[in-house]
Amino acid sequence: MKLLDLNRHGGIGASCHLVQLGDVRIIIDCGLHPKLTGAEATPDLSPLDGLEVDLIIITHCHLDHIGSLPLLLRRQLRAPVVMSSSSALLLARMLHNSVSVMERQREEQSRGDLPLFTHEEVDRCAQRFHSLAFGQTRKISGAKDDVEVTLHPAGHVAGAAGVELRHKGRHIFFSGDVLFEGQRTVPGARFPAGRFDTIVLETTHGATEPVAGRTRESEINRLLDTVNHTIARGGSVLIPVFALGRHQELLTIFHDARENRRLAKCPIYSSGLGIDLCDYFDDVARKTSHVHFSRSVLKALKVQQTPRKLIPGVDPRQNGIYLVSSGMVVERTPSYLVASCLAGHAHNTIAFVGYCDPDTPGGALLASHNGDKFLFAALDTEVKLACQIERFNLSAHAGRDELMDFALRRDPRAIVLNHGDPEARAWFAEEFARSAPHIKVTDPTPLTPVEI
Ligand SMILES: [Zn+2]
Ligand SMILES: [Zn+2]
Repeated sequence: MKLLDLNRHGGIGASCHLVQLGDVRIIIDCGLHPKLTGAEATPDLSPLDGLEVDLIIITHCHLDHIGSLPLLLRRQLRAPVVMSSSSALLLARMLHNSVSVMERQREEQSRGDLPLFTHEEVDRCAQRFHSLAFGQTRKISGAKDDVEVTLHPAGHVAGAAGVELRHKGRHIFFSGDVLFEGQRTVPGARFPAGRFDTIVLETTHGATEPVAGRTRESEINRLLDTVNHTIARGGSVLIPVFALGRHQELLTIFHDARENRRLAKCPIYSSGLGIDLCDYFDDVARKTSHVHFSRSVLKALKVQQTPRKLIPGVDPRQNGIYLVSSGMVVERTPSYLVASCLAGHAHNTIAFVGYCDPDTPGGALLASHNGDKFLFAALDTEVKLACQIERFNLSAHAGRDELMDFALRRDPRAIVLNHGDPEARAWFAEEFARSAPHIKVTDPTPLTPVEI
């Protein structure tokens, strides 16, 4: 297998791989870097010039896996785009949102290069989307070779898939973003048993030390206790979330908690794409068994629009729970504004429930201490940090020990490290060298082809 990582900045960013098996070429994902904008945020697609790709596979609908897909389809006019049936229901909606965000950036930041693609282009792209049911196999033929493609549920988020490729008796597996444990809204991964020749493994949590005795359930209880204490002392809670998946998961957790009288009485504020996607999740839940979600939770929780008149740095008058994106508190998002309002006041809490890149404002908040000055530069607001900042492990990515266990059970000849910061990849490289030195471990350099 020839593999080329097209994610120009490495790490977790614009996920995009070119895989060549015999004379069959497949692209897996084509994302957008969540912290960057414009061309810098896209994968480098120039190595594809003059090449015809036979198939494009989308593992799931997070922006770091789909955000540059229209640019790829502009260059590759024939290849069909294959994804799970849930992803097929969500993908165009996510891309349309991306266009709207880029149009806003164009106005607010005078970025003449944006948007990178238009709503019309997204509609044209959608005509090339094909759904492939989990467990069903699609054969792709080149001039000489055949490759069989099968998708398997990867947990993580609605419709997320691991990708199994078979070529000449070789058996290759891309984990994609994966969670083995079940969440309230999405069941855990169900990957095929048996041996894989090569595994391309996500490594998001390689540098995250597991805390003994903490389970998803105990973390949910700790989160509810923290929310209740904060509300009781007159404060507000910000929970920065990804709109796709985390948002609906947290709404469902709060709904169940309120039914069981485990959640304090207080308003829940939320708005934007996450709320809009509730309708899509409701639809996905009806049409597939991939998600357990009902949009009726919004009504039951009396979810309200985030107040429009929040002033940067000023504590909101009405305390409550703010469930807003982005999950990493990226500049010019609702969570960035709400964070600036809450951070300077001791009765408030910012509760992180997912992965935060260290270079984002969310990562910077997590690394800060009370009393530090924190600059919300995009709002021209500096605050002295006083609020409680907590992290809860409700991540949609598998822990490093589970990933090691999964990989070693499949007895692979080769492992390719993927989707992780350099420290995360280094942990896996060391761990494989220690526990299974016969396995060839590759950490590909972006834009440098490797033969596996
Ligand atoms: Zn993801
Ligand atoms: Zn990802």
